[in-house]
Amino acid sequence: MNSNVTSIKLVLLGEAAVGKSSIVLRFVSNDFAENKEPTIGAAFLTQRVNMADHTIKFEIWDTAGQERFASLAPMYYRNAQAALVVYDVTKPQSFIKARHWVKELHEQASKGIVIALVGNKMDLLESEEDRKVAKEEAEKLSQEENLLFFETSAKTGDNVNEVFLAIGEKIPLKK
Ligand code: GDP
Repeated sequence: MNSNVTSIKLVLLGEAAVGKSSIVLRFVSNDFAENKEPTIGAAFLTQRVNMADHTIKFEIWDTAGQERFASLAPMYYRNAQAALVVYDVTKPQSFIKARHWVKELHEQASKGIVIALVGNKMDLLESEEDRKVAKEEAEKLSQEENLLFFETSAKTGDNVNEVFLAIGEKIPLKK
């Protein structure tokens, strides 16, 4: 047993097809699939990250079908120390959904849960007109709700590791 390993239960929430599974695949395998089969039910994956003086083992629950089974969501985020709430920067509706998830987590999840708001698919922005969720709007929500905030691309890998590192830094070490 390595006493310097801290396990963190992390859940992913967000509208279908925003790229939740792709973010996990990028983080765990440094890979991307253009035409991914949707996740059915829940996928469980782990990934270790070396921090300055300890190791974090992320235990990642990638839930699917939350739209149809919203009532099952509490089962996933109960006891979670961290959550990624993901939206697609080209889909305004997915940002509205993200707001709802943040609210629900603050009402129902463990106190002290570290939440990262993640605007994904940044690679699709060839010009500013392609962007449908303003960065300022997401930053404002993050300040109000005490969220970490990142804009990522699971496709290019841009900023994906940074999300998990920032979560790792924010979670207190178990003594
Ligand atoms: P989930 O339902 O939220 O888990 O979304 P998926 O990870 O299954 O991704 C849905 C679709 O979006 C798939 O076709 C992915 O290849 C694609 N996708 C995911 N992330 C990105 C990204 O960062 N950029 C682009 N261009 N496509 C992405």
